[in-house]
Amino acid sequence: MASTLLAGKTALVTGSTSGIGLGMARALAAEGANIVFNGFGDAAEIDKLQADVAREFQIKTAYHNADMSKPAEIEAMMAFAADKFGGVDVLVNNAGIQYVAKVEDFPVEKWDAIIAINLTSAFHTTRLALPGMRAKNWGRIINLASVHGLVGSEQKSAYVAAKHGLLGLTKVTALETATTGITVNAICPGWVLTPLVQKQVDARAAKDGLSNEDAKRALLADKQPSGEFVTPEELGAMAVFLCSDAARQVRGATWNMDGGWVAQ
Ligand code: NAD
Repeated sequence: MASTLLAGKTALVTGSTSGIGLGMARALAAEGANIVFNGFGDAAEIDKLQADVAREFQIKTAYHNADMSKPAEIEAMMAFAADKFGGVDVLVNNAGIQYVAKVEDFPVEKWDAIIAINLTSAFHTTRLALPGMRAKNWGRIINLASVHGLVGSEQKSAYVAAKHGLLGLTKVTALETATTGITVNAICPGWVLTPLVQKQVDARAAKDGLSNEDAKRALLADKQPSGEFVTPEELGAMAVFLCSDAARQVRGATWNMDGGWVAQ
């Protein structure tokens, strides 16, 4: 049975068909929010995922397949959420992709796609969600940035630039809503073992001739002092705190959950 912190509210989580976004959606559903899922994946699996979350937490779910690189599709998704649930109370900008290459070798179309999905999509969802939040004088916007919003990393120019930009958007939106019941914050995870990071584990295993487990340990040893992956559930708990009344003065803040990565 769901808790009631977010009962009667609606959360839209972009890129919630897997990984961290799914963890966020489940954590918010557990607090009673209805969930609008978004992201790519097999249609039957997404139907099942929606039905499972609705049943487990006794809430309503819906799904919109907007491609977050396409502003017209984002507008359609926000209109869908308004039609279905009367708007978005909690917006989690989570959809993200990555590509690895040196700056001089970085394909221009990959740069454009990463900036569009990881940064510009959050501008669109935010500008479209804010009028409804202002009307209710309540809202929570949570932007999934990264440790790469705070520090650089070779071969990740577009990702690092997008995540630094997302922290900038977070601060400005927080200032523009500072006297309202809307808060805007960012979460910066370190390594979380999702499909996105498994690709980097695979690349490390191939490069250094390591097993899957040794490649995971090597990734963690390089950057994450705790030696453990952060989990989507732990990040979901942080999002729930940011939605609570206790966090109403947390505005424009950057919340690291990175096993100590940026403390080094
Ligand atoms: P993931 O690959 O498991 O999930 C990404 C989600 O985004 C999926 O649901 C996918 O379908 C969706 N998506 C991708 N492109 C999309 C598009 N064009 N339109 C709509 N949806 C799209 O990745 P993840 O690791 O869960 O990452 C989620 C977020 O967390 C990303 O913004 C990522 O940068 C950030 N992050 C991840 C880590 C990590 O270690 N995994 C660390 C820091 C930050």
